[in-house]
Amino acid sequence: LFISFEGGEGVGKSTQIARLADRLRGHGHEVIVTLEPGGTPLGTELRRLVLNPDGHVTPRAEALLYAADRAHHVDTVIEPALAAGKVVITDRYADSSLAYQGVGRALDPQQMRELCEFAVGGRWPEVTILLDVDPIVGLRRARGDGAGDRIEAEGLEFHKAVRAAFLDLAGQDPDRFVVVDASGSLDEVAQRVRVAVDRHLES
Ligand code: C5P
Repeated sequence: LFISFEGGEGVGKSTQIARLADRLRGHGHEVIVTLEPGGTPLGTELRRLVLNPDGHVTPRAEALLYAADRAHHVDTVIEPALAAGKVVITDRYADSSLAYQGVGRALDPQQMRELCEFAVGGRWPEVTILLDVDPIVGLRRARGDGAGDRIEAEGLEFHKAVRAAFLDLAGQDPDRFVVVDASGSLDEVAQRVRVAVDRHLES
C-alpha cells in the first residue's frame, strides 16, 4: 500500500504520519516513512539548495529539481519497498509539485502534469490524505518550528493559492484523495486519518 500525505504549511503532516505508522506497525504491517524533498541523499541536498531562503531558483528550474528528486526517490526508495510488500507513507509527492510549482509558481498545468507523470514513472499512491487547514492557522503553527522565515517570504496569497490547488486536485480525483479537516486537535485529526486509511486497507 502506497500512501501520500499532502497539504500546506503547518497542517501537521509529520505528526500524523508518525502516528499512522505506529498504528499500522502495531497491526503487524512493515511500514517505511519517507519524505520529499529529503527522502534520499539527493533529496537532502535538494532541500538545502531549494529551501534556502537566501538562494533563488527560477520556477522552471525548481520544478525540474523536484522532479529529479522524485524520480530518484521512486526508483531507490518507494519501488523497492513496495516490491518487498511494505506499506510506504510519503510526506509529500507529485501533488505537491502540481500545487506549489504548477499553481503557486504559475507554471503551465499541463506541462507540470506531464513532468510529474515522467517523474513518478506510473507510480501513484492508492490513497492521498490531504490535510487541509486555513493557511492563517497553518502559518501560525509553522512559525513555531523554524520554517517561519521561508514561509512568510512567500506571503499569504501564495499559500491560499496552494491550498485551493490541493482542494482542486482532490476534487478531480476523489477515488484517490481523502480530504481531512486538519483544524482540530491531534487526536481528532488522527481519528479522521485512521478512518480513511482503514477503509483502503479493507478494500
Ligand atoms: O513542511 P515540509 O517539510 O513538507 O516543507 C517542505 C517545503 O518545500 C514546503 O513548505 C514547500 O514550501 C516546499 N515544496 C515546494 N514544492 C514541492 C515540495 C515542497 O515548494 N514540490
